[in-house]
Amino acid sequence: MTYVFDAPSVPALPIRGSDKLYPVHRIYCVGRNYADHAREMGHDPDREPPFFFQKNPDTIVQSGGDFPYPDKSENVHYEMELVVALGKGGKDISRNQALDHVFGYAAGLDMTRRDLQGAAKKTGRPWEIGKAFDFSAPCSEIVPAVNIGHPSKGRLWIEVNGEIRQDSNIDQLIWDIPETISYLSGLFTLSAGDLIYTGTPAGVGAIVRGDQIKGGVEGIGEIRISVT
Ligand code: MN
Repeated sequence: MTYVFDAPSVPALPIRGSDKLYPVHRIYCVGRNYADHAREMGHDPDREPPFFFQKNPDTIVQSGGDFPYPDKSENVHYEMELVVALGKGGKDISRNQALDHVFGYAAGLDMTRRDLQGAAKKTGRPWEIGKAFDFSAPCSEIVPAVNIGHPSKGRLWIEVNGEIRQDSNIDQLIWDIPETISYLSGLFTLSAGDLIYTGTPAGVGAIVRGDQIKGGVEGIGEIRISVT
């Protein structure tokens, strides 16, 4: 059988040290996974645990690419995040076995139409229009875990036009990587190709057309995008 029209292409990311591509299946994101960011958004991290939402896989932008300022928003924010790239899927994965499912890591941006997200929160509506829009998931190349191991600490930072805006460490994650994978696998069947954006620390802020964004996670990699 053939498709009635050409099947959409598979979103993919380069892999450091390899000429193969990493095919992206789903994108999961953790909300409020750093206490200081939960507080800056007006929430109490001691009373409200992190949670999940999703972005569409074809919203990936490779490092070095352009981020076209999206329509229907006057307040678009960057959120610098550690990204976990799964190489193996499963359901009800235990914390002890979680890291066996990781292919590698990357540095990603959870771009957010903050005004639309805020309106959705107020009315109790879903977050898609604030979070899952076109070009909303820039991501660096994937660094295989076989080369760098499984990091539990490392500086996470972002600069806009050379000025530091977020400066934290992945050891500040409320849900660490095994915990995140284990919890998520109880809610969804995870798959090879799934990316998990693990959340952002304090210091999120607005960008404008012409901004040059550069960020990274120590020991993993860097990402650069231009706002056009
Ligand atoms: Mn985020």
